[in-house]
Amino acid sequence: ERVGFAVVGLGRISLEQVLPAFAESRMARPVALVSGSQEKARVVARQYGIRDAAVHGYDRFERLQDDPAVQAVYIALPNAMHRGFTERAAAIGKHVLTEKPMATSSEDCAAMVAACAKADVRLMVAYRCQYEQVNRAAIRAAQGGTLGKLRFFQAANLQANGPGPQWRYSRTLAGGGALPDIGLYCLNAARYLSNEEPVEVFAQAFSPAGDERFREVEESMSFTLRFPSGLLAQAVSSYGAYQEKSLRLHGEGGSLMIEDAFAYQGQRLRLFRREGERGIEQVPQIHPRNQFALEIDHMARCVRDARQPHTPGEEGLQDQQIMEAIVRAAQSGRPEAIPSLSTGTGTR
Ligand code: NAD
Repeated sequence: ERVGFAVVGLGRISLEQVLPAFAESRMARPVALVSGSQEKARVVARQYGIRDAAVHGYDRFERLQDDPAVQAVYIALPNAMHRGFTERAAAIGKHVLTEKPMATSSEDCAAMVAACAKADVRLMVAYRCQYEQVNRAAIRAAQGGTLGKLRFFQAANLQANGPGPQWRYSRTLAGGGALPDIGLYCLNAARYLSNEEPVEVFAQAFSPAGDERFREVEESMSFTLRFPSGLLAQAVSSYGAYQEKSLRLHGEGGSLMIEDAFAYQGQRLRLFRREGERGIEQVPQIHPRNQFALEIDHMARCVRDARQPHTPGEEGLQDQQIMEAIVRAAQSGRPEAIPSLSTGTGTR
């Protein structure tokens, strides 16, 4: 029996990636929709074989409580709305898979973790790259000693011209600009590849003068994280530069790079190692699978087996606390200490 999900919010990520990915999932199925537009939701429901009676408006979210087919909710709304729907889901005993960034403040993240713990429901943040097979192969290489001691990480998440007119330019709804939207992928990757937590950050933000879109949120954020082992991680995220989604990791004995590391598909891994006097290059052949399906299946398994997800709420909280330190560093122009993260329940 597949785990039933209610999809909350029918925007681009739901319609273009996650709903189609259920077809490639082995453990999960969509059984209900929650949307601001009944008209749109009914069309989508028909497409996915969801009953009309399982289509609800945001104000009727609590109706999901009486639907035993719904075990979990997937929240794909503007960032500032994740907390409210997570708390409402926990209150009616439903498990939560929420989109990234988890929320727009560490207070909100902590409240979400607390609400789900109190209700004894699972809480997972949709860090899809951690379920994607090429990134996973890179994690194994980085942590299996193939590269030797890790020294430098570099990543870019860039897109030109920014998103169309929308909530991502609102500080209230988005929490920030390029950093929480796309820079977060670089931050999360530095942590999952190194298996370490950063202790200090230096950062610079930039927004083009006179561009109305970037009055409230940053167009670009560049940051450098220092880790206890000495690893330095540099990342650039921007809505104003030609598309790039790559990462590199340099160790004393080798390095790796992933092209399109943060893309929806098409990741390519190259490994470079010292071997005797020469260097060798390996291009591991990895059969592609839909990372959204892998992510949903992980959540479904955690619901079925009452297990803590690999990317639990605590992991989203940690990233949020680090992003807040990045913003402080960009404002002060000085390195800022990253408060030691108290949770200790993440994956690291
Ligand atoms: P979107 O703008 O395409 O969709 C947002 C949905 O929220 C729309 O259906 C909209 O109608 C609804 N909504 C409800 N209240 C709203 C309000 N007050 N203002 C604006 N919209 C409102 O956004 P999206 O790209 O689907 O992003 C949704 C969430 O998913 C965000 O948290 C985003 O960061 C995340 N996301 C994740 C990935 C990923 O790869 N994991 C990719 C894109 C987006």
